[in-house]
Amino acid sequence: MCRLFGFLVVGFACVTAMAGSTLPDVVPDRVASRTYVIHGPMGHPSPENQAFINNPAFVITNAGVVVVDPGSSVQIGDMLLRRIAEITDKPVVAVLNTHVHGDHWLGNDAIYRAYPEARIYAHPNMIAEVANGAGDQWVDLLMGLTDGAIAGTRVVAPTSALSHGDEIRVGDVRFRIHHTGKAHTLTDIMIEVPEEDLVFTGDNASNGRIVRMDDGSFTGNLRALDLALDLNRKVYVPGHGQSGGKALVQAYHRYLGTLHETVSYYFEEGLSDFEIKDKAGAKLTEYADWVGFKSELGRHVSLAYLEVEAEAF
Ligand SMILES: [Zn+2]
Repeated sequence: MCRLFGFLVVGFACVTAMAGSTLPDVVPDRVASRTYVIHGPMGHPSPENQAFINNPAFVITNAGVVVVDPGSSVQIGDMLLRRIAEITDKPVVAVLNTHVHGDHWLGNDAIYRAYPEARIYAHPNMIAEVANGAGDQWVDLLMGLTDGAIAGTRVVAPTSALSHGDEIRVGDVRFRIHHTGKAHTLTDIMIEVPEEDLVFTGDNASNGRIVRMDDGSFTGNLRALDLALDLNRKVYVPGHGQSGGKALVQAYHRYLGTLHETVSYYFEEGLSDFEIKDKAGAKLTEYADWVGFKSELGRHVSLAYLEVEAEAF
């Protein structure tokens, strides 16, 4: 019953456990006329959530279904396919992977098993990282964090490259690709869907949850969000958390910007990253109840410190 209420719905309200499984089975929210998002549980991979923590999504075109980020495992991908089948009998014809972090794309396996002809797209940097073993590393990591809940998931790599400025058309819908260099990772694409007045930001934006920045750049991520905001679209689908309007992108921009500015200021003053952590926390109280704030803040300050230090030389 959650499907048509869009942004008013809190994903958890729709979570039901499937018979014989603890896998959260979340009803898609319709966020634009042809676009649905399964707003996944907020948190970090665990046996309870079975590493289902992202926002698998799909766009129903008149030539078939386009999936964006089918989740962290074959099990999540299968759940997504069941949810798609409740809404349309059209086949999945394409998959877009926003970046290399495994919670977003290991579900490719389920799509491939059901629709081996579907093309799987990603940025060339992601295709290269997966060719170098990133998928196997993510399977091992998520197997460990979930006590084996993703067992059976095989690495199905994206094979079709999409770079900044590329556009593909699937039936009556266009998918325009934006990449601004290293942002959340080196591999991010943001996907603009003009017909839906919508942008999939991947993990360049997150809503209500702090994401890891170990593979990213604060200034690069801010640059990507500047571009996302310049697109001036009505709907933004973040990598984690509820979809919404520009305000959610602005809020994440403010988080990254405030953190980077604070670290830069106190770096100039000669403080250590350890000394800066509390000062940054005091400026970021708006985010204190975001999932991961307490656990990631110190790490983010340290990473921003290294980045500021490198910029200074
Ligand atoms: Zn990520």
